[in-house]
Amino acid sequence: MERDFDIVVIGGGHAGAEAAWSAAALGARVALVTLSGQTIATMSCNPAIGGIGKGQIVREIDALGGLMGRAADATGIQFRMLNRSKGPAVWGPRCQSDRHAYASWVQAALANCENLAILAGEAKEILTSAGRVVGVRLAVSAEGGTEETLSCRAAVVTAGTFLNGLMHLGERTWPGGRYDEPAASRLSDSLAGLGLARGRLKTGTCPRLSAETIDYSQCTRQDGDDQPTPFSFANDSLDVRQIPCWITSTNEQIHAIIRDNLHRAPMFTGQIRSTGPRYCPSLETKIVRFPDKTGHQVFLEPEGRDTNWVYCNGISTSLPADLQERIVRLIPGLADAKIVRFGYAIEYDYFPPTQLKATLETKVVEGLYLAGQVNGTTGYEEAAGQGLLAGANAALKARGQVELVLRRDQAYIAVMIDDLVTKGVSEPYRMFTSRSEHRLSLRADNADSRLSEIGRGIGLVDDARWRRYQDKRQAAQRIETLLETTRLDGKPLCDWFRRPDISPEQIVARAGGELAELARKQPAALASAAIDARYAGYLVKEQSAAKRIEEMDGKLIPDSIDYSDVSHLRQEAREKLTIIRPRSLGQALRVSGITPADVTVLAIHLAAGKRRETAGESRGITKS
Ligand code: FAD
Repeated sequence: MERDFDIVVIGGGHAGAEAAWSAAALGARVALVTLSGQTIATMSCNPAIGGIGKGQIVREIDALGGLMGRAADATGIQFRMLNRSKGPAVWGPRCQSDRHAYASWVQAALANCENLAILAGEAKEILTSAGRVVGVRLAVSAEGGTEETLSCRAAVVTAGTFLNGLMHLGERTWPGGRYDEPAASRLSDSLAGLGLARGRLKTGTCPRLSAETIDYSQCTRQDGDDQPTPFSFANDSLDVRQIPCWITSTNEQIHAIIRDNLHRAPMFTGQIRSTGPRYCPSLETKIVRFPDKTGHQVFLEPEGRDTNWVYCNGISTSLPADLQERIVRLIPGLADAKIVRFGYAIEYDYFPPTQLKATLETKVVEGLYLAGQVNGTTGYEEAAGQGLLAGANAALKARGQVELVLRRDQAYIAVMIDDLVTKGVSEPYRMFTSRSEHRLSLRADNADSRLSEIGRGIGLVDDARWRRYQDKRQAAQRIETLLETTRLDGKPLCDWFRRPDISPEQIVARAGGELAELARKQPAALASAAIDARYAGYLVKEQSAAKRIEEMDGKLIPDSIDYSDVSHLRQEAREKLTIIRPRSLGQALRVSGITPADVTVLAIHLAAGKRRETAGESRGITKS
């Protein structure tokens, strides 16, 4: 007998976990099909959440009611706010996580989730009828028997690095999705068979070492912040026993060995042919790309509280095992280090994301959504952000409700999705603050004020979270009023917050009264208000630019448009717009190669169409 669900999420990585969570939270009946229940939310690479640009995404996921922020808070072993020496727009919360505890936390949250069934198995085929998803065929049923078919109205594919995954360790290659895990190939063929173009990308990971074999006296200790900043808006503070990380470095001797052995490096022998993440290059790539650098930092990051595994961040490599041994032993502090897992690289299939709408639904098959690494991104946070939106949109569509498309001035998640579906990728896409034109507005501290109402509006933000947010918002509004109306030594308080020579805490101490009371009760609201006051002039400029973009993004292009009918449009623009099919004039303007003049031609065409429509209606002609 077929089992019936509203939505089947394929893959239990960071994208799949958030997709299943958000779809189920919106009341859809969800099946999460994944190769193994025990590997749900596994961190394939480094045991850390957040960072510059990425930390903002985690806070956005949290403000929208997702899992990642709470999981990171509950299982972090070291918390640091990166970039603190720079402006608050680019501060990035990051934590080292206990790898196993993190996965267990997410697994428990999903296990306790109403409407959600977790099925271990391989999804091998998406079933469609008349261009719509109607089911998913599993290679092996959840009970381990033969094939099984799940019927559904939408499928969210979040298969990560597993589709036709090919692992590389020196000259050795073997099929796999991650170390000791099988690849999944049939699903990739099924998606291609439905008309989706696919490509290949590459990523790599670092060796892991055994802690007791490291001589930490030769490394520099790196501690967490004295007061850890929580990721989740549900937490005021974190009471956590933090564990230090350690810093060491590569040296000229190591670089010489690598240079002499490039003929054994899959990255350089032609064995690996696909493109890897530019900003997370392998050690061998760094040596070739930066020949003048005499050392590269290596961060020794503990993988958890109850494990002796240490992640050797900074030396991602697919060099052969014997070379990895030689290299590691020459790093200060690692002369006797034992490698418990060698670094390796993986090539995998991805589906160019320009084939997606801004809702993350494919343009070719209705009800088919893609999220995470399969869209050409890299990173847990990027995957989770897409997963949350894809799951929510699949559920909203199943309920016949308007899907959620965030604007670029509202969230980094929106910047990422807009970049993906509008520009596509030529290498694994990771988030940076520089990708946003609204950096001052899209801060980690204010993600809740940007997104809580939106999350609440679609039903993702629960009552407890909403009450917390309301309390904070009330305090924030009162603080804003006080900053405008209260004077200190003859000057409005907001002017004081613009001065670099006096800290917000000092100002509050001098102001005392209600402001001090609010700052004590709602320190986060005060901190955000202080940043807003400090950058008020720039924020006004950013907001007026955002307004213009919002107007253009609000001018929707009908799905039915035929660009060959648009007179005076350049041929190149016609071709590009036909491929991307932007949803609005704003998005059209962001398609590479589309000029403002092209968009004006398009706007005139749409306006003329509207006039014809209105004239037709006034003559009693109805549309078919
Ligand atoms: P994944 O976390 O890969 O999860 C995919 C899930 O899908 C798994 O649970 C799998 O079991 C399941 N699955 C796959 N196919 C099927 C199927 N047919 N049926 C059922 N279930 C299926 N990120 C960085 O930011 N920096 C890095 O340097 C970096 N290096 C990496 C190195 C390696 C070797 C790997 C493997 C990943 C690396 N990552 C890195 C990427 C990071 O792990 C991913 O970006 C992130 O995990 C992607 O999340 P995801 O949910 O899209 O997919």
